[in-house]
Amino acid sequence: MIVRMRAEATAEATEAVAAELRSRGFEVHLLTGGGAPVIGVNGQPVPADLGPALCALPGVAGVLDTTRPYRLAAREARPEGTVVQVGDVRIGGPEPVIIAGPCVVESREQLLRAAEAVRAAGAVMLRGGAFKPRTSPYSFQGLGEEGLRLLAEAREATGLPVVSEVMEPGQVEMVAAYADVLQIGSRNMANFPLLKRVSQVDRPVLLKRGFAATIDEWLLSAEYILAGGNDRVILCERGIRSFDPATRFTLDLNAVPLVRQLSHLPVIVDPSHGTGRRDLVAAMALAGIAAGAHGLIVEALPDPDAALCDGPQSITPDLLADIVARARAIHAVVAPETAVVA
Ligand code: PEP
Ligand code: MN
Repeated sequence: MIVRMRAEATAEATEAVAAELRSRGFEVHLLTGGGAPVIGVNGQPVPADLGPALCALPGVAGVLDTTRPYRLAAREARPEGTVVQVGDVRIGGPEPVIIAGPCVVESREQLLRAAEAVRAAGAVMLRGGAFKPRTSPYSFQGLGEEGLRLLAEAREATGLPVVSEVMEPGQVEMVAAYADVLQIGSRNMANFPLLKRVSQVDRPVLLKRGFAATIDEWLLSAEYILAGGNDRVILCERGIRSFDPATRFTLDLNAVPLVRQLSHLPVIVDPSHGTGRRDLVAAMALAGIAAGAHGLIVEALPDPDAALCDGPQSITPDLLADIVARARAIHAVVAPETAVVA
């Protein structure tokens, strides 16, 4: 069950409804970061008289029964949609948000050059991994805290907010001290202790879909973060594993319009990991925007062939600039929504 409060409902009114529900033995979770407060309620069965009783309380806009496994992440909880604000960047707002940069931070020179180049190409946020989940233990694992320091320096130099991956609960505090957005990678989408930990920090979370995760599993991972108190979640479709090794993953663009129906959270697309091939990135980036994505995260740097990680799927700043221009044009003809800032 979801209880939607009116936008003008006071914190006291919201707490009174939550207290009433708790006194009846329900577990409640509040979504209060932006727009009208929402109360997600666990516990079955819900008695028939409860809805009308709650509607009579001050500030209550409506009560919805939902059979979905997730509540706070459900579109019904915030039908108007959510905008996640990072500095001046609004993910889920009227402009498509393009995030770009190297897969991994390798050196000061590499990162600063890449940051300037992606900013000049029109990207509005910088990506770069400091802690990398590598399939092989012998591959470069990232620079750790030094990589985070370099990202902070690149933000100083360019004004671009930065997003970087966090892999384990013990790293959250450190990554949050440097990065504007915490990325949870595909391999950690179901790392529940990590989801609980990031639910307690004051940083937006870019939650990538596990490459073998269903849509419901992905949205339930988002629900962990919302239920823990952080409603600034950005979903990212980055490809699922299919039977066909012709591409690295299969970018599931069905997920974009479907997730927009099912959830109020903004959704972006990663055409780099979704294809694994530089020559397919532009087409799938634009297809993602055409499908309704609120933005893209793309691996791009001046010398992609020299990259220590994911070079074959990384693109040049020239191609990025072309994608940015065409993504804006396509986004303008895809119906925008009027979302509220979380
Ligand atoms: C990445 O963004 O570099 C990355 C490791 O992505 P994913 O978790 O989607 O594989
Ligand atoms: Mn990568």
